Amino acid sequence: MPGPLDPPPRLLMGPGPVNAYPTVLRAMSAGMVGQFDPAMTGYMNETMQLYRQVFGTSNEATLLVDGTSRAGIEAALVSLVEAGDRVLVPVFGRFGQLLCEIAERCGADVHVREVGWGDVFEPEQIEKAIVETEPTVLALVHGDTSTTMLQPFEGIGEICERHGVLFYADVTASLGGNAFVMDDLGVDVATAGLQKCLGGPPGSAPISLSPRAVERIERRRSIEAGILDAGDEIVEIPGRIRSNYFDLAMIMDYWGERRLNHHTEATSMLYAARECARVLLEEGIDEAVARHRLHGAAMLAGVRGLGLTPYGDVAHKMHNCVGVEIPPRADGERVDGEEVRKMMLERFGVEIGTSFGPLRGRIWRIGTMGYNARTDAVLTTLAAFEHALRHAGVGVPAGGGVDAALEVYR
Ligand SMILES: *Cc1c(COP(=O)(O)O)cnc(C)c1O
Repeated sequence: MPGPLDPPPRLLMGPGPVNAYPTVLRAMSAGMVGQFDPAMTGYMNETMQLYRQVFGTSNEATLLVDGTSRAGIEAALVSLVEAGDRVLVPVFGRFGQLLCEIAERCGADVHVREVGWGDVFEPEQIEKAIVETEPTVLALVHGDTSTTMLQPFEGIGEICERHGVLFYADVTASLGGNAFVMDDLGVDVATAGLQKCLGGPPGSAPISLSPRAVERIERRRSIEAGILDAGDEIVEIPGRIRSNYFDLAMIMDYWGERRLNHHTEATSMLYAARECARVLLEEGIDEAVARHRLHGAAMLAGVRGLGLTPYGDVAHKMHNCVGVEIPPRADGERVDGEEVRKMMLERFGVEIGTSFGPLRGRIWRIGTMGYNARTDAVLTTLAAFEHALRHAGVGVPAGGGVDAALEVYR
């Protein structure tokens, strides 16, 4: 018989998940109420209202998809995209590739544009690709943790509007730590997760849909229900949504006034999501973004103070994540990035991130997100990092990281 669950204390400074806010963990330990208990439906309504503020939208259809961030992405794409639809995906990291993969599985005709990892797109490049491919949907990542880059969204919503394209955005990594006002940016559908800047556990995916997006999804439902009467007119018959669990028409019916049973809302995750939003709004979104900017700047300065090189075009880096090039050792030999991570975890209880794809073995990724966007978390990480680097044979200036970060805080 294993003992009771007792995970080791860790400071999670990777690209997510991060340590949850203590009040979020407490909210999750609250007791169950029935699915249609007025207390529960009341919490659902409150959660919708809180996330309208978090996303910066007046969209009625603002709710949670039960599952990790990927569940939100999949629900959005499977509900919006019909087989044969053209979908344009500008890719600047791993999560752009994920959007392609999911759109392909929806049967879409996927068109990809790429910039090198560490870069972002100019709006003109996206407009040119829209003109060339005439997509139904533009699917774009806001902050991609794989490269730490934040794609500027200014002007892209207008471009989509002008060309009649639906704009889907994955804002999982950026929301709450970088400015994002959905309605101002003209985003039609945005999905997120809790385990980055929102400071919660993975397992719930907030989503918001514009009336235009809702209308498109509703059309696909009416066919299924046989409501659409074509009369003499020849109408294009939209395909049925090819998922039950991720059918946003049904999920909206559950969260909306009709309260039609779909799944059982994940009660404890709803508590968590509600508390994440409440904590963020209590601090103030602008204040939270400023805090992520400050601690991200301190971490960046600390990395440079250790004589290390940040990855990519730092002018476009998210506030909450920095890539760090794995340096050579003093004797010119290769440093094993995993050895450094292992020492930080085992000796200091501090986790930093590894990397994927073309960056595997080339960079570490360090996050300062949500609850962990804090001075003590930044300084502790830099102290542990310095020690582990020296242990791995890298020549680092003593105290260089902590000193440089403290300079930012001064
Ligand atoms: C971290 C991250 C996700 C995570 O998806 P999960 O299903 O929660 O693992 C999705 N999208 C982006 C852009 C991310 O940075």
